[in-house]
Amino acid sequence: MRILLVEDEPKVASFISRGLKAESYAVDLASDGVQGEHLAASERYDLVILDIVLPGKDGLEVLRSIRERHVATPVLLLSARGRVQDRIHGLDAGADDYLAKPFNFDELLARVRALLRRGKTEGPPTFTYKDLHVDPARHAVRRGKSDIELTPREFALLEYFIRNPERVLTRTMIAEHVWDYHFDTSTNVIDVYVKHLRDKIDRDAKVKLLHTVRGVGYRLTAKS
Ligand code: CA
Repeated sequence: MRILLVEDEPKVASFISRGLKAESYAVDLASDGVQGEHLAASERYDLVILDIVLPGKDGLEVLRSIRERHVATPVLLLSARGRVQDRIHGLDAGADDYLAKPFNFDELLARVRALLRRGKTEGPPTFTYKDLHVDPARHAVRRGKSDIELTPREFALLEYFIRNPERVLTRTMIAEHVWDYHFDTSTNVIDVYVKHLRDKIDRDAKVKLLHTVRGVGYRLTAKS
């Protein structure tokens, strides 16, 4: 799950972003309204967390502008001003939820989860490819009859593969969806994680599912 955080105060931004990353979300950060609007409109996110008071362009303007451009990504507004008026303006401008600063981080996480669930109602609640089953809501993975334990990052990686079966996923695509925009693709971190994941899902199976496409990336497929 990929989240755009638009927040200009470095301390707050780093606090939120670290907390979300610890929950295995990929987080991109924009530190002003103009950059935030550009990223929200040009990249694909599952959620935007948008501060209202921002340099360049305020959060409400950013929100109106991306909604006019038919960007339907769920938006959670943040503001230090807990005034009713801001909340009304925010919801009228197309926000899906609103949280007043200072907030409890667990409450932010709960709202993030709720918004991500809402956004997923159109898709299937679980994913199946051959005998591999992934249930994002329960964080459960099964291959044939065996349950497989994955770390949060391995899970995020597998979820990205099973949402895109038989498609070649480049390291850049994987980095952007499972890590974040600033991830250094020159390291071999992705290869290491894919190897761990492969050990867990393919080791005891006759048909291998996670294949390397040499020089390009990886592919979840039963056809080798
Ligand atoms: Ca601010």
